[in-house]
Amino acid sequence: MSPGQTSVSEVRQTIHRDRGVRHHVRVVETVTSSPEETEALAAGLAARLERGDVVAVSGELGAGKTTFVRGAARALGVAGPVASPTFTIGHRYEAPIPVAHLDLYRVAGLDPEEWGDLEPYFDGTVAFVEWPEHAGEWLPAPRIVVTLGHVDETHRTVRIDG
Ligand code: ADP
Ligand code: MG
Repeated sequence: MSPGQTSVSEVRQTIHRDRGVRHHVRVVETVTSSPEETEALAAGLAARLERGDVVAVSGELGAGKTTFVRGAARALGVAGPVASPTFTIGHRYEAPIPVAHLDLYRVAGLDPEEWGDLEPYFDGTVAFVEWPEHAGEWLPAPRIVVTLGHVDETHRTVRIDG
């Protein structure tokens, strides 16, 4: 399957106005049937990411957030292993555009000092954030919001907004 094609159940184009500026907000909802398909879908998204972009990646444990980030990071040129930052909050990978990967699972709201520690991850990178809802108001506005969900053992819903 070409990612984003045959299994796309819904593709919507919306134009909405924000202070007179027109934004095209694309919503893609699809079901992947393997981790490889989720990685390929993420690689497709990576092609349109730019330095400074924040990608929020939501979904319950095991939904495929890290798998999605891995696929995108590879496509952005990250060579080594991409695993969930379990014992640290974040990883930063060198690539043509550096890639940051944060997992805020263990974070419960950030105070300014904690935010100060995280801020460098967003400096000059494309930043992927798992559990973005744990950051509270501190997270820079994501350009893309990805939401994954379980269907069964090998199938996941993937929704990409933005
Ligand atoms: P999270 O970061 O959301 O906790 P992970 O990406 O670490 O999730 O783990 C997802 C698990 O689900 C992996 O073991 C992966 O192999 C498995 N999996 C099965 N089917 C899929 C799929 N279609 N997409 C993504 N992961 C899948
Ligand atoms: Mg994870």
